[in-house]
Amino acid sequence: MPEIPPRADGGRVLADLNALRAIGTYKTGVHKPTFSDPHMRSLEWLATRLPDAGLSATIDGIGNVLGTSAKAGPKLLAGSHLESQNYAGWLDGPLGVVYALEAARVLNPDPSVNGAVEVASWCDEEGHFGSFLGSRSFVGGITEADIDAARDRNSDRSMRQALQSAGLSGRPRITAERGRHIGYFEAHIEQGDRLESSGLKIGIVTSIVGIWQYRITFTGEQNHAGTTRMAIRRDAGLALAKFCVAIDDSFPKLCGARTVWTTGRITLDPGAPSIIPGGAEMLFQIRDDDPAVIERLEAKLRSMAAEAGASGPCSVAVERIRTGAPAMMDDRFQDAIEAASAALADGKSARMPSAAGHDAQVLATIMPAAMLFVPSIGGISHHWTENTDDADIVTGAEVFVETCRRLLSR
Ligand SMILES: [Zn+2]
Repeated sequence: MPEIPPRADGGRVLADLNALRAIGTYKTGVHKPTFSDPHMRSLEWLATRLPDAGLSATIDGIGNVLGTSAKAGPKLLAGSHLESQNYAGWLDGPLGVVYALEAARVLNPDPSVNGAVEVASWCDEEGHFGSFLGSRSFVGGITEADIDAARDRNSDRSMRQALQSAGLSGRPRITAERGRHIGYFEAHIEQGDRLESSGLKIGIVTSIVGIWQYRITFTGEQNHAGTTRMAIRRDAGLALAKFCVAIDDSFPKLCGARTVWTTGRITLDPGAPSIIPGGAEMLFQIRDDDPAVIERLEAKLRSMAAEAGASGPCSVAVERIRTGAPAMMDDRFQDAIEAASAALADGKSARMPSAAGHDAQVLATIMPAAMLFVPSIGGISHHWTENTDDADIVTGAEVFVETCRRLLSR
Protein backbone atom coordinates (compact mmCIF):
# COMPACT_ATOMS: atom_id res chain seq x y z
CA MET A 1 0.00 0.00 0.00
CA PRO A 2 1.45 3.39 -0.92
CA GLU A 3 1.47 5.71 2.04
CA ILE A 4 -1.14 8.51 1.81
CA PRO A 5 0.71 11.82 1.99
CA PRO A 6 -0.26 14.01 4.95
CA ARG A 7 -3.02 16.49 4.15
CA ALA A 8 -3.97 19.92 5.40
CA ASP A 9 -5.36 19.91 8.94
CA GLY A 10 -8.79 21.48 8.35
CA GLY A 11 -9.45 22.11 12.04
CA ARG A 12 -6.16 23.93 12.41
CA VAL A 13 -6.86 26.08 9.34
CA LEU A 14 -10.30 27.09 10.65
CA ALA A 15 -8.88 27.79 14.13
CA ASP A 16 -6.19 30.04 12.63
CA LEU A 17 -8.68 31.95 10.48
CA ASN A 18 -10.89 32.49 13.53
CA ALA A 19 -7.89 33.62 15.58
CA LEU A 20 -7.21 36.27 12.92
CA ARG A 21 -10.90 37.24 12.90
CA ALA A 22 -10.68 37.80 16.67
CA ILE A 23 -8.10 40.56 16.05
CA GLY A 24 -9.98 43.69 14.98
CA THR A 25 -13.43 42.05 14.89
CA TYR A 26 -16.29 44.02 13.35
CA LYS A 27 -19.64 42.16 13.52
CA THR A 28 -18.83 38.84 11.77
CA GLY A 29 -15.98 40.44 9.82
CA VAL A 30 -13.01 42.63 10.63
CA HIS A 31 -11.83 46.23 10.44
CA LYS A 32 -8.07 46.21 9.84
CA PRO A 33 -6.86 49.17 7.79
CA THR A 34 -3.18 49.04 6.82
CA PHE A 35 -0.85 49.77 9.79
CA SER A 36 -3.76 49.96 12.24
CA ASP A 37 -3.23 48.25 15.57
CA PRO A 38 -5.27 45.14 14.57
CA HIS A 39 -3.32 44.89 11.31
CA MET A 40 0.01 45.05 13.12
CA ARG A 41 -1.16 42.50 15.69
CA SER A 42 -2.18 40.20 12.83
CA LEU A 43 1.30 40.48 11.31
CA GLU A 44 2.82 39.64 14.69
CA TRP A 45 0.43 36.69 15.01
CA LEU A 46 1.76 35.35 11.71
CA ALA A 47 5.39 36.01 12.62
CA THR A 48 5.03 33.96 15.81
CA ARG A 49 3.54 31.02 13.91
CA LEU A 50 6.02 30.80 11.03
CA PRO A 51 8.66 28.97 13.12
CA ASP A 52 6.12 26.09 13.51
CA ALA A 53 6.62 25.59 9.77
CA GLY A 54 10.40 25.67 9.94
CA LEU A 55 10.46 29.27 8.69
CA SER A 56 12.30 32.26 10.09
CA ALA A 57 10.10 35.34 10.15
CA THR A 58 10.88 38.93 9.22
CA ILE A 59 8.60 41.98 9.15
CA ASP A 60 10.29 44.36 6.72
CA GLY A 61 10.37 48.13 6.28
CA ILE A 62 7.10 48.29 4.33
CA GLY A 63 5.14 45.84 6.50
CA ASN A 64 5.63 42.68 4.45
CA VAL A 65 6.00 39.52 6.53
CA LEU A 66 8.24 36.87 5.01
CA GLY A 67 8.95 33.40 6.30
CA THR A 68 12.08 31.92 4.76
CA SER A 69 13.34 28.36 4.88
CA ALA A 70 16.86 26.99 5.25
CA LYS A 71 15.78 23.63 3.81
CA ALA A 72 17.59 22.51 0.65
CA GLY A 73 15.75 22.19 -2.63
CA PRO A 74 13.27 24.32 -4.57
CA LYS A 75 11.26 27.04 -2.82
CA LEU A 76 7.67 27.89 -3.59
CA LEU A 77 6.46 31.31 -2.42
CA ALA A 78 2.85 31.45 -1.16
CA GLY A 79 0.75 34.05 0.62
CA SER A 80 -1.75 36.89 0.45
CA HIS A 81 -2.49 39.85 2.76
CA LEU A 82 -3.68 40.49 6.34
CA GLU A 83 -5.09 44.02 6.26
CA SER A 84 -8.73 44.47 5.25
CA GLN A 85 -10.91 46.98 3.53
CA ASN A 86 -12.75 49.15 6.08
CA TYR A 87 -15.41 47.19 8.00
CA ALA A 88 -15.03 44.23 5.68
CA GLY A 89 -14.86 40.45 5.63
CA TRP A 90 -12.71 37.98 7.57
CA LEU A 91 -11.43 35.85 4.66
CA ASP A 92 -10.27 38.38 2.05
CA GLY A 93 -6.51 37.99 2.52
CA PRO A 94 -6.21 35.82 5.65
CA LEU A 95 -7.47 32.76 3.74
CA GLY A 96 -4.46 32.83 1.41
CA VAL A 97 -2.01 33.54 4.23
CA VAL A 98 -3.34 30.71 6.42
CA TYR A 99 -3.37 28.24 3.49
CA ALA A 100 0.26 29.16 2.78
CA LEU A 101 1.14 28.71 6.46
CA GLU A 102 -0.65 25.35 6.48
CA ALA A 103 1.17 24.18 3.34
CA ALA A 104 4.46 25.13 4.97
CA ARG A 105 3.52 23.33 8.21
CA VAL A 106 2.57 20.14 6.35
CA LEU A 107 5.29 20.03 3.69
CA ASN A 108 8.40 21.67 5.15
CA PRO A 109 9.07 19.12 7.91
CA ASP A 110 8.37 16.21 5.52
CA PRO A 111 11.72 14.77 4.39
CA SER A 112 10.02 13.17 1.37
CA VAL A 113 9.17 16.65 0.07
CA ASN A 114 12.03 18.18 -1.88
CA GLY A 115 12.22 21.85 -0.92
CA ALA A 116 9.92 24.12 1.02
CA VAL A 117 6.99 26.50 0.95
CA GLU A 118 7.92 30.05 1.99
CA VAL A 119 5.18 32.31 3.30
CA ALA A 120 4.46 35.97 2.58
CA SER A 121 1.92 38.49 3.80
CA TRP A 122 1.99 41.47 1.43
CA CYS A 123 1.30 44.85 2.96
CA ASP A 124 -1.52 47.12 1.78
CA GLU A 125 -3.00 44.92 -0.94
CA GLU A 126 -6.27 46.68 -0.17
CA GLY A 127 -4.78 50.00 -1.24
CA HIS A 128 -5.21 52.19 1.83
CA PHE A 129 -1.95 53.96 0.93
CA GLY A 130 -1.39 53.07 -2.70
CA SER A 131 -1.65 50.19 -5.11
CA PHE A 132 -0.05 46.84 -4.12
CA LEU A 133 2.75 48.70 -2.31
CA GLY A 134 3.98 45.62 -0.42
CA SER A 135 4.24 43.18 -3.29
CA ARG A 136 5.53 45.92 -5.61
CA SER A 137 8.24 46.69 -3.07
CA PHE A 138 9.20 43.00 -3.07
CA VAL A 139 9.56 42.89 -6.87
CA GLY A 140 11.60 46.11 -6.83
CA GLY A 141 8.87 48.38 -8.14
CA ILE A 142 8.75 50.96 -5.32
CA THR A 143 11.17 53.80 -4.63
CA GLU A 144 11.71 55.67 -1.37
CA ALA A 145 10.09 58.67 -3.11
CA ASP A 146 6.96 56.56 -3.72
CA ILE A 147 6.79 55.88 0.02
CA ASP A 148 7.39 59.58 0.79
CA ALA A 149 4.40 60.45 -1.39
CA ALA A 150 1.98 57.76 -0.15
CA ARG A 151 -0.87 58.88 2.12
CA ASP A 152 -3.77 57.07 3.78
CA ARG A 153 -6.81 57.60 1.52
CA ASN A 154 -9.09 57.96 4.57
CA SER A 155 -7.09 59.85 7.19
CA ASP A 156 -4.52 61.54 4.90
CA ARG A 157 -1.82 60.36 7.33
CA SER A 158 1.48 59.97 5.50
CA MET A 159 2.89 56.49 5.03
CA ARG A 160 6.11 57.62 6.72
CA GLN A 161 4.15 58.59 9.86
CA ALA A 162 2.24 55.31 9.74
CA LEU A 163 5.45 53.27 9.40
CA GLN A 164 6.95 55.25 12.28
CA SER A 165 4.08 54.58 14.65
CA ALA A 166 3.97 50.93 13.60
CA GLY A 167 7.63 50.66 14.58
CA LEU A 168 8.75 49.81 11.06
CA SER A 169 10.60 52.91 9.94
CA GLY A 170 14.31 52.40 9.36
CA ARG A 171 13.92 48.69 8.69
CA PRO A 172 15.22 47.48 5.33
CA ARG A 173 12.75 46.41 2.69
CA ILE A 174 13.17 42.82 1.48
CA THR A 175 13.28 42.35 -2.27
CA ALA A 176 13.02 39.13 -4.22
CA GLU A 177 16.17 37.08 -4.62
CA ARG A 178 15.99 36.34 -8.36
CA GLY A 179 15.86 32.63 -9.12
CA ARG A 180 15.14 31.61 -5.52
CA HIS A 181 11.48 30.67 -6.10
CA ILE A 182 9.98 28.28 -8.61
CA GLY A 183 6.88 30.48 -8.49
CA TYR A 184 4.19 32.17 -6.42
CA PHE A 185 0.88 30.61 -5.40
CA GLU A 186 -2.01 32.52 -3.77
CA ALA A 187 -5.41 31.33 -2.59
CA HIS A 188 -8.32 33.75 -2.26
CA ILE A 189 -12.07 33.79 -1.92
CA GLU A 190 -13.67 34.19 -5.34
CA GLN A 191 -15.54 37.43 -4.42
CA GLY A 192 -18.08 36.55 -7.10
CA ASP A 193 -20.79 33.89 -7.39
CA ARG A 194 -19.60 31.77 -10.29
CA LEU A 195 -18.30 28.82 -8.22
CA GLU A 196 -21.26 28.77 -5.84
CA SER A 197 -23.86 29.04 -8.58
CA SER A 198 -22.25 26.17 -10.54
CA GLY A 199 -21.78 23.87 -7.52
CA LEU A 200 -17.99 24.04 -7.92
CA LYS A 201 -15.40 24.04 -5.13
CA ILE A 202 -12.19 25.29 -6.74
CA GLY A 203 -11.54 28.11 -9.20
CA ILE A 204 -8.31 27.86 -11.20
CA VAL A 205 -7.40 31.39 -12.15
CA THR A 206 -6.30 31.80 -15.76
CA SER A 207 -5.60 35.53 -15.69
CA ILE A 208 -6.08 38.59 -13.53
CA VAL A 209 -7.91 41.36 -15.31
CA GLY A 210 -6.26 44.64 -16.09
CA ILE A 211 -7.87 47.76 -14.64
CA TRP A 212 -7.95 50.92 -16.72
CA GLN A 213 -9.15 54.13 -15.11
CA TYR A 214 -10.17 57.42 -16.64
CA ARG A 215 -10.98 60.94 -15.51
CA ILE A 216 -13.67 62.40 -17.77
CA THR A 217 -14.10 66.14 -17.41
CA PHE A 218 -17.02 68.23 -18.66
CA THR A 219 -16.68 71.98 -19.02
CA GLY A 220 -19.71 74.23 -19.39
CA GLU A 221 -20.60 77.56 -17.84
CA GLN A 222 -21.45 78.27 -14.22
CA ASN A 223 -24.51 80.47 -13.85
CA HIS A 224 -27.60 81.34 -11.79
CA ALA A 225 -30.02 78.39 -11.47
CA GLY A 226 -33.03 80.73 -11.37
CA THR A 227 -32.41 83.40 -13.96
CA THR A 228 -30.64 81.43 -16.71
CA ARG A 229 -33.08 80.23 -19.37
CA MET A 230 -32.96 76.50 -20.15
CA ALA A 231 -32.20 77.14 -23.83
CA ILE A 232 -28.90 78.94 -23.19
CA ARG A 233 -27.56 76.82 -20.35
CA ARG A 234 -24.23 75.01 -20.56
CA ASP A 235 -24.82 72.55 -17.72
CA ALA A 236 -21.76 70.35 -17.23
CA GLY A 237 -23.62 68.07 -14.78
CA LEU A 238 -26.34 67.32 -17.31
CA ALA A 239 -23.71 66.65 -19.99
CA LEU A 240 -22.06 64.17 -17.64
CA ALA A 241 -25.32 62.36 -16.91
CA LYS A 242 -26.08 62.02 -20.64
CA PHE A 243 -22.55 60.72 -21.23
CA CYS A 244 -23.02 57.99 -18.57
CA VAL A 245 -26.20 56.83 -20.28
CA ALA A 246 -24.50 56.90 -23.70
CA ILE A 247 -21.69 54.65 -22.39
CA ASP A 248 -24.23 52.10 -21.22
CA ASP A 249 -25.84 52.18 -24.67
CA SER A 250 -22.69 51.75 -26.73
CA PHE A 251 -20.31 49.59 -24.64
CA PRO A 252 -22.39 46.37 -24.79
CA LYS A 253 -21.97 46.37 -28.59
CA LEU A 254 -18.15 46.49 -28.30
CA CYS A 255 -17.20 44.77 -25.05
CA GLY A 256 -15.96 41.24 -24.33
CA ALA A 257 -17.92 38.51 -22.53
CA ARG A 258 -16.71 39.54 -19.08
CA THR A 259 -15.90 43.23 -19.49
CA VAL A 260 -17.19 45.40 -16.66
CA TRP A 261 -17.31 49.18 -16.37
CA THR A 262 -18.14 51.47 -13.49
CA THR A 263 -18.55 55.16 -12.79
CA GLY A 264 -17.05 55.32 -9.32
CA ARG A 265 -17.26 59.00 -8.40
CA ILE A 266 -19.04 62.01 -9.78
CA THR A 267 -18.27 65.57 -8.70
CA LEU A 268 -20.06 68.71 -9.75
CA ASP A 269 -18.44 72.12 -9.55
CA PRO A 270 -19.50 74.02 -7.54
CA GLY A 271 -22.15 71.46 -6.56
CA ALA A 272 -24.81 73.74 -5.08
CA PRO A 273 -28.56 73.54 -5.73
CA SER A 274 -28.86 77.15 -6.88
CA ILE A 275 -25.92 77.11 -9.26
CA ILE A 276 -25.71 75.52 -12.70
CA PRO A 277 -22.53 73.44 -12.57
CA GLY A 278 -19.83 74.86 -14.82
CA GLY A 279 -17.65 71.81 -14.37
CA ALA A 280 -18.24 68.11 -13.76
CA GLU A 281 -15.94 65.15 -13.42
CA MET A 282 -16.41 61.40 -13.33
CA LEU A 283 -13.92 58.69 -12.44
CA PHE A 284 -14.56 55.76 -14.74
CA GLN A 285 -13.08 52.27 -14.67
CA ILE A 286 -12.98 49.40 -17.17
CA ARG A 287 -11.79 45.85 -16.39
CA ASP A 288 -10.96 43.08 -18.83
CA ASP A 289 -8.20 40.54 -19.40
CA ASP A 290 -7.88 41.40 -23.09
CA PRO A 291 -6.04 44.66 -23.89
CA ALA A 292 -7.60 44.65 -27.39
CA VAL A 293 -11.09 44.99 -25.84
CA ILE A 294 -9.92 47.87 -23.68
CA GLU A 295 -8.36 49.57 -26.68
CA ARG A 296 -11.66 49.34 -28.52
CA LEU A 297 -13.62 50.73 -25.58
CA GLU A 298 -11.16 53.52 -24.94
CA ALA A 299 -11.33 54.57 -28.59
CA LYS A 300 -15.12 54.63 -28.29
CA LEU A 301 -14.91 56.74 -25.13
CA ARG A 302 -12.70 59.26 -26.93
CA SER A 303 -14.90 59.43 -30.04
CA MET A 304 -18.00 59.89 -27.88
CA ALA A 305 -16.25 62.71 -26.04
CA ALA A 306 -15.31 64.37 -29.33
CA GLU A 307 -18.87 64.05 -30.66
CA ALA A 308 -20.43 65.34 -27.44
CA GLY A 309 -18.03 68.30 -27.45
CA ALA A 310 -18.74 69.08 -31.11
CA SER A 311 -22.51 69.01 -30.70
CA GLY A 312 -22.25 71.06 -27.48
CA PRO A 313 -23.02 72.79 -25.26
CA CYS A 314 -20.15 71.45 -23.09
CA SER A 315 -16.65 70.25 -23.93
CA VAL A 316 -15.58 66.79 -22.81
CA ALA A 317 -12.02 65.60 -22.07
CA VAL A 318 -10.99 61.99 -21.46
CA GLU A 319 -7.77 61.37 -19.55
CA ARG A 320 -6.43 57.88 -18.80
CA ILE A 321 -5.12 57.89 -15.23
CA ARG A 322 -4.36 54.21 -14.66
CA THR A 323 -3.28 51.45 -17.02
CA GLY A 324 -3.25 47.93 -15.69
CA ALA A 325 -1.94 45.23 -17.93
CA PRO A 326 -3.67 41.89 -17.30
CA ALA A 327 -1.50 39.15 -15.76
CA MET A 328 -1.55 35.65 -17.19
CA MET A 329 -1.29 32.78 -14.71
CA ASP A 330 1.20 29.98 -15.36
CA ASP A 331 -0.24 27.06 -17.39
CA ARG A 332 1.68 24.31 -15.62
CA PHE A 333 0.67 25.66 -12.21
CA GLN A 334 -2.96 25.64 -13.42
CA ASP A 335 -2.55 21.99 -14.43
CA ALA A 336 -1.22 21.17 -10.94
CA ILE A 337 -4.25 22.82 -9.28
CA GLU A 338 -6.55 20.88 -11.61
CA ALA A 339 -4.86 17.57 -10.79
CA ALA A 340 -5.04 18.29 -7.05
CA SER A 341 -8.75 19.21 -7.43
CA ALA A 342 -9.38 15.93 -9.24
CA ALA A 343 -7.78 14.08 -6.31
CA LEU A 344 -9.33 16.01 -3.40
CA ALA A 345 -12.37 18.00 -4.62
CA ASP A 346 -14.12 15.43 -6.85
CA GLY A 347 -12.84 17.37 -9.83
CA LYS A 348 -15.29 20.18 -9.03
CA SER A 349 -13.03 22.86 -10.47
CA ALA A 350 -13.19 25.31 -13.32
CA ARG A 351 -10.73 27.65 -14.98
CA MET A 352 -11.77 31.29 -14.73
CA PRO A 353 -10.30 34.78 -14.93
CA SER A 354 -10.09 36.92 -11.80
CA ALA A 355 -12.08 40.12 -12.09
CA ALA A 356 -10.43 41.50 -8.95
CA GLY A 357 -6.82 42.58 -8.60
CA HIS A 358 -4.45 40.52 -6.44
CA ASP A 359 -0.79 40.53 -5.40
CA ALA A 360 -0.29 37.52 -7.72
CA GLN A 361 -0.46 39.93 -10.68
CA VAL A 362 2.54 41.78 -9.26
CA LEU A 363 4.50 38.62 -8.47
CA ALA A 364 3.71 37.37 -12.00
CA THR A 365 6.00 40.10 -13.36
CA ILE A 366 9.05 38.26 -11.98
CA MET A 367 8.10 34.58 -11.60
CA PRO A 368 5.44 32.04 -12.65
CA ALA A 369 2.30 32.74 -10.61
CA ALA A 370 -0.99 30.99 -9.94
CA MET A 371 -4.17 31.49 -7.93
CA LEU A 372 -6.82 29.22 -6.50
CA PHE A 373 -10.31 30.45 -5.58
CA VAL A 374 -12.80 29.01 -3.08
CA PRO A 375 -16.54 29.84 -3.30
CA SER A 376 -17.92 33.03 -1.73
CA ILE A 377 -21.40 32.62 -0.25
CA GLY A 378 -23.73 34.78 -2.33
CA GLY A 379 -20.69 36.19 -4.11
CA ILE A 380 -20.40 38.82 -1.36
CA SER A 381 -17.08 40.45 -0.52
CA HIS A 382 -15.67 43.78 0.70
CA HIS A 383 -18.50 43.60 3.25
CA TRP A 384 -18.51 42.25 6.79
CA THR A 385 -21.00 39.49 5.85
CA GLU A 386 -18.44 37.93 3.45
CA ASN A 387 -18.23 34.19 4.14
CA THR A 388 -17.38 30.73 2.82
CA ASP A 389 -18.71 27.37 4.07
CA ASP A 390 -16.29 25.79 6.56
CA ALA A 391 -16.35 22.61 4.45
CA ASP A 392 -15.31 24.60 1.37
CA ILE A 393 -12.52 26.31 3.34
CA VAL A 394 -11.20 22.88 4.34
CA THR A 395 -11.46 21.47 0.80
CA GLY A 396 -9.65 24.53 -0.53
CA ALA A 397 -6.86 24.05 2.02
CA GLU A 398 -6.45 20.39 1.05
CA VAL A 399 -6.26 21.23 -2.65
CA PHE A 400 -3.85 24.09 -1.93
CA VAL A 401 -1.45 21.93 0.10
CA GLU A 402 -1.62 19.12 -2.46
CA THR A 403 -0.91 21.57 -5.29
CA CYS A 404 2.14 22.87 -3.42
CA ARG A 405 3.37 19.28 -2.98
CA ARG A 406 2.99 18.61 -6.70
CA LEU A 407 4.72 21.85 -7.68
CA LEU A 408 7.68 21.13 -5.40
CA SER A 409 8.08 17.55 -6.59
CA ARG A 410 8.01 18.29 -10.32
ZN1 LIG B 1 -7.76 40.24 -1.08
